[in-house]
Amino acid sequence: SRRKVLTADDYFDGVRGQNVSMLARAFTLVESSSPRHIPIAEELLTRLMPHTGGGLRVGITGAPGAGKSTFIEALGLLLVSKGLRVAVLAVDPSSGITGGSILGDKTRMGKLAAEDNAFIRPSPSAGTLGGVANKTREIMLVAEAAGYDVVLVETVGVGQSETMVADMTDCFLGIMLPGAGDELQGIKRGLLELIDVIAVNKADGANRKPARLAAQQYHNALDSISGSGNDSPPAILTCSALEKEGIEDVWNAIQTRCHRDKQTQRFEQRRQQQNLRWLWSIVEDRLRQTLHTHPGVQEICDDVEDRVLAGEMPPAAGARQLFAALKLDT
Ligand code: GDP
Repeated sequence: SRRKVLTADDYFDGVRGQNVSMLARAFTLVESSSPRHIPIAEELLTRLMPHTGGGLRVGITGAPGAGKSTFIEALGLLLVSKGLRVAVLAVDPSSGITGGSILGDKTRMGKLAAEDNAFIRPSPSAGTLGGVANKTREIMLVAEAAGYDVVLVETVGVGQSETMVADMTDCFLGIMLPGAGDELQGIKRGLLELIDVIAVNKADGANRKPARLAAQQYHNALDSISGSGNDSPPAILTCSALEKEGIEDVWNAIQTRCHRDKQTQRFEQRRQQQNLRWLWSIVEDRLRQTLHTHPGVQEICDDVEDRVLAGEMPPAAGARQLFAALKLDT
């Protein structure tokens, strides 16, 4: 039998009423790229907007195998034990392109998934990484409107995905491995600019000492780059996600930073800037889509490409013709 077609009102009531199955359907709606769903999703998000923003948004990155899943489950269980409601989302850079999964399936976090006050959502699989990130932002808003207190967004240390997750969260946590050369890589890739808290994980057993050493190396590295405009160097801690040691300290470090940022208005400003960048990234995405699907552009683009390839036409002149076909005012 066919399901009743739900209206934005139905979804709104379900989300605000914290109805678990309606929440799941709202997520599916928001992730959908079907032209039938998009207007309903947009209406729903618009109505939910005044009820969003109440969650603490924490991004979590790390190389594959660093212990992200183990850590997130341990942190999630800790938060649930404090009476908080926790949403776990993911931005998987491989999900859109290959349908594959660097982050793996989240059934690994079985204990957390079984908690009433937690849910775990795998990465959306929208065509581009930007699309995946935008869907994740919307899922985050729906989760907040449903009363989730903490939203953890997991990603992996590959390409643009870290920048995108840092740009949708209040605090960005890096899970590092002791003695894997991560200390220096992080600095090279400019990761330290994004990261607010560093947790050197697997600080247990024989790894206890190397983990402390790695933490010290981060401190030293930060000292050597201090004064380079970084007004708030990351907090650096060690923990063991497996032994559930130091997890509360990492949580405290996250809270301390957010608390401090709230006092200086930095917290609000960061969110406002994120929203503006989000707005323009959608506009730019749409513009790109419009450009590539525009009939007038399609009509001439092969010819323009051929002439540019043959060296008969300067790319700038070709670009001007393509813009003219789009009939935008340039
Ligand atoms: P992810 O790929 O970053 O999500 O890493 P996982 O959470 O799947 O962990 C990768 C492997 O490291 C698994 O075998 C975990 O059991 C192990 N692991 C994770 N955290 C710790 C830890 O704190 N200590 C130790 N010894 N092993 C850990």
